[in-house]
Amino acid sequence: MRPRLCSLLAILLLLVLPLAGCSLLRDGGGAPDASVTVAVFDVGQALAVGVITADGHALLYDAGNSREDAETVILPFFRSQGIEQLEYLILSHPDQDHVGGMPAVIEGIEVASFLDPVLPSTNRTYLETLRLVRERGIRAVRAERGRTLQLGEQVRVHLLWPQRPFLTESSGEVSDNDNSAVLLLEHGTVRFLLPGDLEEPGEKALLAQGDAAELRAQILVVGHHGSRTSSSEAFLAAVRPAVAIVSAGRENPYGHPHPEVLQRLRAVGAELYRTDVDGTVLIHSDGTRWTIEIERGPSR
Ligand SMILES: [Zn+2]
Repeated sequence: MRPRLCSLLAILLLLVLPLAGCSLLRDGGGAPDASVTVAVFDVGQALAVGVITADGHALLYDAGNSREDAETVILPFFRSQGIEQLEYLILSHPDQDHVGGMPAVIEGIEVASFLDPVLPSTNRTYLETLRLVRERGIRAVRAERGRTLQLGEQVRVHLLWPQRPFLTESSGEVSDNDNSAVLLLEHGTVRFLLPGDLEEPGEKALLAQGDAAELRAQILVVGHHGSRTSSSEAFLAAVRPAVAIVSAGRENPYGHPHPEVLQRLRAVGAELYRTDVDGTVLIHSDGTRWTIEIERGPSR
């Protein structure tokens, strides 16, 4: 009976450990003993998420709204962590609030690979980004469902979206938001979901592709800055986030994050952080548990 009891205990532990993550609010201070840090940068009404592993590998997903975001927030962070190269620079979609800082990033730090969904766009900053990628001989890769990247020894990045043919608006035009590159980062049992600006039609299409377990993640960077047209109940029911981080600008004209989205996040039990209140939000993961560090905000 003993060995059987042991294996039962082992199974129980395996079931419990993934749920054992906790978040500690800390006002500044040094990073705890963590092997992966994910930074949801405070870049106003825009998005930029950095990932750094303990073995020195780094990724940037979107680059904020402007050159200034890159020069004052994103690049200083990587430099302060001793990062001299981004292994992957990933663009969710070519809207200004995501591509804005990309040229300055490419000029400011070495980039090995650039990934984007290759959506039709006339955005000048996007076209400038593509020109710099070409000029500097950066490897360009299409971001699409089914691709998996390895970031250092410990982090796997699964590209869950988009998939061709691209989703279209009612006008027939290819939708930027609904074809966002969606990333699922896996570090041990800790999972992060980055859905870019995916809205409900994109969420639905993604849900229809795989099983809901594919989307399960303890940490969710909330889609489309907390817009009411994203974070549908069905999507949140699949993700079941313990922590939700909204990237939105202070007093932004869109009213992001929308109260209905905050209500839906509360309904699934997610602990909420928002860059307009908390500043840059750092999540440190050791592969089993995580801690959260915020730049500012009311003490809680
Ligand atoms: Zn956006």
